Amino acid sequence: MNNIACFPGKYIQGSGTILNLEHLINRFGHKAIILASPSARKFLPESFFHSPLSQQFVVETFGGECSELALSDFMNRIRIEKADVVIGMGGGKTIDTAKIAADRIGLPVIIVPTIASTDAPCSGCAVTYTTEGAFEKVHYQRLNPSVVLVDMDIIAKAPVRFLVAGIGDALATWFEARSCTANAAQNECGGFSTLAGQNLAQLCYDVLLKYGVQAKVDNEANLISPALSYITEANILLSGIGFESGGIASAHAIHNGFTALPETHAYYHGEKVAFGLQAGLQLINASEEEIREVVAFCHSVGLPIRLADIGIDEVSRGKLMIVARKSTEEGSTIHHEGNDITAEKVYDAIMKADVYGRQFAASKD
Ligand SMILES: [Zn+2]
Repeated sequence: MNNIACFPGKYIQGSGTILNLEHLINRFGHKAIILASPSARKFLPESFFHSPLSQQFVVETFGGECSELALSDFMNRIRIEKADVVIGMGGGKTIDTAKIAADRIGLPVIIVPTIASTDAPCSGCAVTYTTEGAFEKVHYQRLNPSVVLVDMDIIAKAPVRFLVAGIGDALATWFEARSCTANAAQNECGGFSTLAGQNLAQLCYDVLLKYGVQAKVDNEANLISPALSYITEANILLSGIGFESGGIASAHAIHNGFTALPETHAYYHGEKVAFGLQAGLQLINASEEEIREVVAFCHSVGLPIRLADIGIDEVSRGKLMIVARKSTEEGSTIHHEGNDITAEKVYDAIMKADVYGRQFAASKD
């Protein structure tokens, strides 16, 4: 197997970058279809609608779930509008819908994340869910997005919970990449990790520890600071390249398990991944020092450290075994942690993480 890394064609981050969209539409085609979540739509500058550019795009509102049904509806719209550029604007699920639809039709896709809540924007993979919101399948596109356009004016105004969730998603990147390298497991590009993948994943973790708390404070004040810019880059670019080119393992597998419990659906991907990481560290018997560093960091930025923090107030063995079994299904990335991972071991790891988190929280009260 080869060493493979995947990157977006271009990454642009700064204040007011949304204005680059006009130029980019003209660079990539003649007519764009913009898939925007209802909250993202308002970030399109009014000038776009009152200029010749208005003839070159249509806006389609995203329905809320990246499902096969939503994909076929959106693909029909792309064909009816005869669009030759697809733009996905919003959060993870809007972005994933734009990516999969563009790839299936064979069009370039420009991603405009309006929140820094996941590492989906830069990657060439996307996830579909059932119409009920349970994890369904990972889809691998032929190429990563042509452009990822991040406007800090938009990110700085977004609710802070999104940034924190993105930190949770990015926090797992280094640990999962490390497991993949240690166990000679495939990354998300279908090869072994490169030095680039491993090192960007490690840089991602270092940036989070150094600037995470400050970025949260700055985001609360809607301030575009160096810390907020670094964390935005860590959440979107470093984690994006890091997870795809480094590989994923237990944190995401346990996240996928949690999606089987309806009470966790109100919690964001990155929030569940952060707790999945803590369970994953217990699963591989990580050092006390490492577990403590991760749990203390999660606590400092307000990421979940207990099952109750992701909606599981009533803990039962039956319920957590549903999570553990889903996490350990055949083909799950949890097997990137080694050959001997069983549902029983995952159950124990989740319980240990919950106990550790509860004790940690109690010691801080
Ligand atoms: Zn993720």
